[in-house]
Amino acid sequence: MPDSPGELAFSARGIRNTMQFSSRPTRRTLLKAAGATALATPAVLAAAAPQAAAVGQTDAAEERSYDVIVIGAGFAGITAARELCAQGKRVLVLEARDRVGGRTWTGSFAGHLVERGGTWVEPTQPHLGPELKRYSLALEEDLPVDRVLLPTPKGPGQFTPEEGFGRIGAVMDRMFEGSREYFEKPFTPLYRADLLQSLDRLTLRDRLTQLSLTAEEELAINGQTAIYSGGSSKDGAFTMFAHWWALAGWNNAGWNDTQRWRIAKGTGALLGAMIAEAAPTIRLNTAVTTVTDTGTRVYVTVKSGVTYSASKAVVAVPANVWPSIKFTPTLPAALTAAGSQGVAVKNAVKLWIHARKGAGRFYGQGAEGGTPIPMVIPFKETSQGMLYVAFSTDPTLDPQSIPQVKAAVQKVGVDLDILGLYTHDWGRDPYARGGWAFRKPGQLTTLYPDVTNPKGLLAFASGDIANGWSGFIDGAIESGLRAARQTLGAT
Ligand SMILES: Cc1cc2nc3c(=O)[nH]c(=O)nc-3n(C[C@H](O)[C@H](O)[C@H](O)COP(=O)(O)OP(=O)(O)OC[C@H]3O[C@@H](n4cnc5c(N)ncnc54)[C@H](O)[C@@H]3O)c2cc1C
Repeated sequence: MPDSPGELAFSARGIRNTMQFSSRPTRRTLLKAAGATALATPAVLAAAAPQAAAVGQTDAAEERSYDVIVIGAGFAGITAARELCAQGKRVLVLEARDRVGGRTWTGSFAGHLVERGGTWVEPTQPHLGPELKRYSLALEEDLPVDRVLLPTPKGPGQFTPEEGFGRIGAVMDRMFEGSREYFEKPFTPLYRADLLQSLDRLTLRDRLTQLSLTAEEELAINGQTAIYSGGSSKDGAFTMFAHWWALAGWNNAGWNDTQRWRIAKGTGALLGAMIAEAAPTIRLNTAVTTVTDTGTRVYVTVKSGVTYSASKAVVAVPANVWPSIKFTPTLPAALTAAGSQGVAVKNAVKLWIHARKGAGRFYGQGAEGGTPIPMVIPFKETSQGMLYVAFSTDPTLDPQSIPQVKAAVQKVGVDLDILGLYTHDWGRDPYARGGWAFRKPGQLTTLYPDVTNPKGLLAFASGDIANGWSGFIDGAIESGLRAARQTLGAT
């Protein structure tokens, strides 16, 4: 394998000088590289990837034949690539964007490291926790909130954190009653398929209706059920949220912990460390258009018309993106259905709001349908004020518009003096076509386990089709580990 600039698409700045590969890196060089890269990673992800991509495009003596091609350089794809490299496979990662990370994206805003996509991690998550240890990555806790704003029948109400989160938790306890039975083994989600068949047909709205909530209770929860399921509680499967609840330990404290910790150096630090250890060949700006499995070899053609081939391939693009790639033969029924129905929520905008001092460390939740921004969370104090992270699944919101964002947050009960915004619209992003995974009614019981199985020479990896933490980075890592095992033939 030539040590060409194109082959080392991830090495343009900082790493290039420290990584010395022979044609196949030894364990020792990998470890050396890991140390060097772990230090350089945030800069690499924030800044170097675009330059590296340009380098990757100009490789004249490009190699086109590999053991395994991995399509997509998010956590699922990079995990699979690392595991395959560790087994001595020559791996090519093809990535459509000018950066790695996919739906995770560490950047900087108002002088702070921020995430435009996936952020919170829980050290007890079984696939992510060991990765944090492996690369010695520290976590940072979010700011504690000093008050909670929740909608009430009389308008936005202000509560102490104990009261406010207590209200939400009390409804959740009722909502997920029985989940210890129907999700008895949360990482084997269909272990009690007998109990789940009928539950999986329910939307979150159906479940709220079953509970005959008071107006206060309904308003304490429906902003969350709506935002997680992509805009309306009528869209998301009740079993999806119940599954998260079960994975978090079947209780509110565990669930709250899933949104409390961040990787101090950013998600990019973890991904960069994984890449440095494995040193796969990564080609950025290389969108895959067709994948042909002849039964003996996989041919992968990219937008420029170049075709690469390999003995096997791992498809690690989001499920919502599967329909944009031409697969021959066509994908099995479960994957076709998942792709056409979509698994990740269609509209998902994450906003970073920098506001002048004044509003303080509030957690704000709006009512379903009451505001285009039903969730606002304090992040960090800045020299001028405060950074907040907020979410919207309303396609009518212009997330770049300060007046629109201000008006939306006012409906939560706070008047922010906004200094700036930093956003990404994942729904309009052609290589995501949506945000976090949130299954629709029926998807768990009709698509699983088929959607996780390999087909011919292809294995599928995505945080959208994890057995456990779908919709989370942990799930992406889980799926990458699984796809690597399947590719190696050790399912
Ligand atoms: C706004 C937001 C907030 C989130 N919050 C959290 C959170 O707090 N905690 C948490 O754990 N998770 C969170 N998630 C979910 C988490 O980010 C994802 O589950 C995880 O990153 C998915 O990883 P993946 O590798 O499966 O997919 P992706 O990260 O989407 O990676 C797929 C890769 O495939 C590439 N690709 C697409 N099409 C092609 C093509 N044709 N050719 C080549 N490459 C292609 C993409 O560019 C991308 O790099 C959040 C997600 C979003 C969007």
